[in-house]
Amino acid sequence: MPFESKISLGCPACDELIYREMSWFRKNFPTCPHCQQTLRGEQFDAALHALEQAMDLSIDEMLAPAGHGGCCGSKKSGCCGQ
Ligand SMILES: [Zn+2]
Repeated sequence: MPFESKISLGCPACDELIYREMSWFRKNFPTCPHCQQTLRGEQFDAALHALEQAMDLSIDEMLAPAGHGGCCGSKKSGCCGQ
């Protein structure tokens, strides 16, 4: 993967937002840049999972044709993959 998107998640210890690559949050013991607490990557699992699902959804939307119907004027079912 040539590009890794950065995300921001709240620190479980101090509630400050941490803006880092996803892999950083997956480390076993990332250190919060704000409070220097040693965190456990698993503390971010639920949030990361939710983010990934949200990203999948937005990618699906990007791939879907913009606007439904009227694209080719055909009334046949199956037009535009509908
Ligand atoms: Zn912190």
